[in-house]
Amino acid sequence: MKPILFNFSDAELNAFVTDMGQPRFRAAQIRQWLNRGAPDFSVMKNLPMDLRNQLDQMAVTLPVKIITKLESADGETTKFLLELADGNKIECVLMRTTYGNSVCVSSQAGCAMGCRFCASTLLGLQRNLTTNEILAQVLTAQWELRGDRGTSRPNGDPNNGDVSHVVIMGTGEPLQNTENVIGFMERLNQDLGIGWRRITLSTCGIVPGIYDLIKWGRPINLAISMHAPTDEMRSQIMPINNKYKLDDVLTAADAFTAAHNRQLMIEYILLGRRNEMGETELYNATPEMAECLADKLTGKNCMVNLIPWNAVDERDFAAPSGNAVHRFQDILIKRGIHTRIRRERGTDIGSACGQLRLNNHQGN
Ligand code: SAH
Repeated sequence: MKPILFNFSDAELNAFVTDMGQPRFRAAQIRQWLNRGAPDFSVMKNLPMDLRNQLDQMAVTLPVKIITKLESADGETTKFLLELADGNKIECVLMRTTYGNSVCVSSQAGCAMGCRFCASTLLGLQRNLTTNEILAQVLTAQWELRGDRGTSRPNGDPNNGDVSHVVIMGTGEPLQNTENVIGFMERLNQDLGIGWRRITLSTCGIVPGIYDLIKWGRPINLAISMHAPTDEMRSQIMPINNKYKLDDVLTAADAFTAAHNRQLMIEYILLGRRNEMGETELYNATPEMAECLADKLTGKNCMVNLIPWNAVDERDFAAPSGNAVHRFQDILIKRGIHTRIRRERGTDIGSACGQLRLNNHQGN
């Protein structure tokens, strides 16, 4: 297997370059390209061509390699299917929004959580990603925006601006890989200058992991994948709820937001089911469930993101109608709960929430 230069320390990179009979300053040049997310050596314009070719024979740049890149029809969303050195595949998504460029990264190859509505867990967990493998997803998106320019593109260019926001909401459960994910967030902050408040970590509710984040002490945004207001219903769709009960998850989340004076983000997928007549019946999205959710959240400093379910072929759910979604939201608003309906991005390329999966070349 070829060595991955991005993973080398400065001393290792120096040694590698001088072993090739090259002057030391080449190591610094290469490092600069690596930090910009250079996908291969051919783009390293300030290196002599024969050195680039030689490097290409001997090594690779990043711990992720782009297999396919899919663009949504509106041009706002790009999904990358990436291959890791061991052949595992992961996905990450770049979203160009009015508030900046946001990257959704995966924290694991596959997922062990088994949530009934999600595609990412269908093949189980392969392994945790390393800090560098998570970071390289952001650099890949940054390269997409900047290309081989050292700076961001001008206003008016669709790829204007740098990566400004990162959400850890791709495949995997970040709090099952807490150490590497924390290492990743530290690098984001130090190396890319991304502020803590522009980083969001989403968890299905691993209670000890939330306390680890509190101990870590950085004021990131925390999102909880709640999806049902009662333990009874939540356990039916999220097996992790058998281990960590909803009230304990919310208590831990409250402790996190209190520590940083942040608003807690609650994610709530709206699920329907098809009955024998082929009609969609609401599951967790009935008016009663909205009232029950409001009971649970009253008095908390939180924002509920309602996510109409995104289709996953293997999963036996259906998206509720637009009316049902609005009725659900209205109840929450009347009860004084901050709520918005999440605008899904990239549904046409299978990159919306819960659609990310391993090994998917078609992007559905
Ligand atoms: N494991 C973490 C990180 C993944 S975040 C977590 O559970 O929070 C991905 C978000 O998309 C989660 O809120 C997840 O529950 C949600 N999701 C999963 N499948 C979905 C689907 N089919 N439609 C809409 N959202 C989905």
